[in-house]
Amino acid sequence: MTIEVLSDLVISQIAAGEVVERPASVVKELIENALDADAKNIYVEIQEGGRRLIRVSDDGVGILPDEVPLAITRHATSKLRQTEDLYAIKTLGFRGEALASIVSVSSATLVSRHRQEKMGVELRMQGGELLSKRAVGVPVGTVITIENLFYNTPARLKFMKADTTERRHIQNLLTDYAMAYPHVRFVFMQDGREVFRSSGNGVLEDVVVKVFGLDTFKQMIAVSSEETLRTSSRLRVRGFVSLPDLHRNDRSRVVLFVNGRAVQDNGLAHAVTQAYHMLLERGRYPYAVLLVDVPPDFVDVNVHPTKAEVRFQDSGAVFVAVQRTIREALIQPLRTGEGGKPVVAMPTTLPQQQGMGWVLDTSGRTSMREPLPEREEELEAIPTGMGKPAKPRTLPPLRVVGQVGGMYIIAEGPAGVYLIDQHLAHETVIYDELSDLLQREQPIPIHEGAGVTVDVRGTQARVLEAILPVLEPYGIVLEMFGTTTVLVRAVAGFVPPERAGEVVTRLLLLLEARAEVETAALQALSNVGAVRMGQRLTQDEMQEIVRRLERCATPLQSPSGRRTLLHMSADQLLSEFGRRD
Ligand code: ADP
Ligand code: MG
Repeated sequence: MTIEVLSDLVISQIAAGEVVERPASVVKELIENALDADAKNIYVEIQEGGRRLIRVSDDGVGILPDEVPLAITRHATSKLRQTEDLYAIKTLGFRGEALASIVSVSSATLVSRHRQEKMGVELRMQGGELLSKRAVGVPVGTVITIENLFYNTPARLKFMKADTTERRHIQNLLTDYAMAYPHVRFVFMQDGREVFRSSGNGVLEDVVVKVFGLDTFKQMIAVSSEETLRTSSRLRVRGFVSLPDLHRNDRSRVVLFVNGRAVQDNGLAHAVTQAYHMLLERGRYPYAVLLVDVPPDFVDVNVHPTKAEVRFQDSGAVFVAVQRTIREALIQPLRTGEGGKPVVAMPTTLPQQQGMGWVLDTSGRTSMREPLPEREEELEAIPTGMGKPAKPRTLPPLRVVGQVGGMYIIAEGPAGVYLIDQHLAHETVIYDELSDLLQREQPIPIHEGAGVTVDVRGTQARVLEAILPVLEPYGIVLEMFGTTTVLVRAVAGFVPPERAGEVVTRLLLLLEARAEVETAALQALSNVGAVRMGQRLTQDEMQEIVRRLERCATPLQSPSGRRTLLHMSADQLLSEFGRRD
């Protein structure tokens, strides 16, 4: 055979074998392009596991009309100019071969309108050949439709798995990106049905709840650390990891992003599992979402065409940081507050009702029956919340024993043991105390200049505008800023300034669920102001919450109607241990 230089089309099809392994790889490349184009909304639609159709629409900057044909040309990229750039890549793409590869093995339509243009361009292609090009009236952004993937590469087609498998791969990928980019709204449609949507409100934990579900999220804790590498470059690790009681038999839910790039790095994944050493059995793996940020020149992303592997200048430093950050977060809740007291050995998942005594005592009788301690005055001297006169007790005085799982406070009282949900209890306390202040026509202390802005929809903006004066006495001082932006001028003093925006988003959610404005305001404030699940509390902090809970009007029920505590009476304990019959 004679030696000939391969045509561009053949080269693209060969490259497609590396870049485009399966439908999920197409979705990954298209999502990365949309993110590189600064999209705030990304819609992904698939049919038949992506085999029939994959469509990714974004509202990013779009492509200039002259450059549209270039976008689908091999080694054409707007993201890399010279070799040096390779060592400090800030975009997800840079090789300029993904689109060329994808369109060479499918029927493709690319529609794009650049934000400086009045019209968009539509290209239709088949197996890499241009069929048509025309001007079209479309909104700013890019829509790429890939149909009949691998129709002209039968070998590839044969290797495709069942639709359900491909669908799962795509869904995992999409939800991973939604978690790594909480500021971007992702919507996922499968065969005409919406199966996932993130809000794009920038709050990672909201997306994690959407992806893993609330029950799983409740068993996860926040991790976060930042350290300095060399001179002033930062290594940041943040995210959520599961407590040791939640685990699974594969590593598929260990989600790792480095500088916003999804990576499958065995070393890094190992650092995560190592953090659970002695906490998880062999062969069990945690849930984790970890976003690692390093300086761009600290990491080489050009190791593999799919860019799933990365190489760190100092991998040791990164692995140690990841491992230590998780380990510290895991160990903390297991320690009690002070003085080297022993670890509280209590299961974090408690036996349910059946046969066991952990039940809610709703009778309210407990507080009557129980003798108050003799030194009641001493307890009174402890400040209760917002400087109001002491209210009547609704719970007996409880002594905090410790914290479990970063979520629950264990306390004992004359009538037995109490397990208190720290978030719900604190929420109840704040709600109660705020209602009390308002009833006595006392102002709610605020701090001014929270200065946070929140983007809302037009209809939401109009709702907020109408209720601005109602919100003010509640310590939610807003100002409309343009038609879809709300500026938080001031917010109740107990809300950390950086979380002021969440008060607005929470408020809107409650209003959409048809809550009364006043109730919604109180609920939003108490929800955001309360300590969070997974937050480690000192003995004093826990005692403070409990002390205030003891005087709430309805200490057993949170503002949203959930139980705040489980109580096991001394009697129940005795009989559970067979000491009484
Ligand atoms: P790379 O992302 O590595 O540059 P691609 O083949 O994925 O290569 O894309 C080629 C070029 O097409 C990009 O550099 C970019 O200029 C343009 N492009 C592709 N998708 C989009 C999009 N969704 N929005 C704006 N520009 C895009
Ligand atoms: Mg790309």
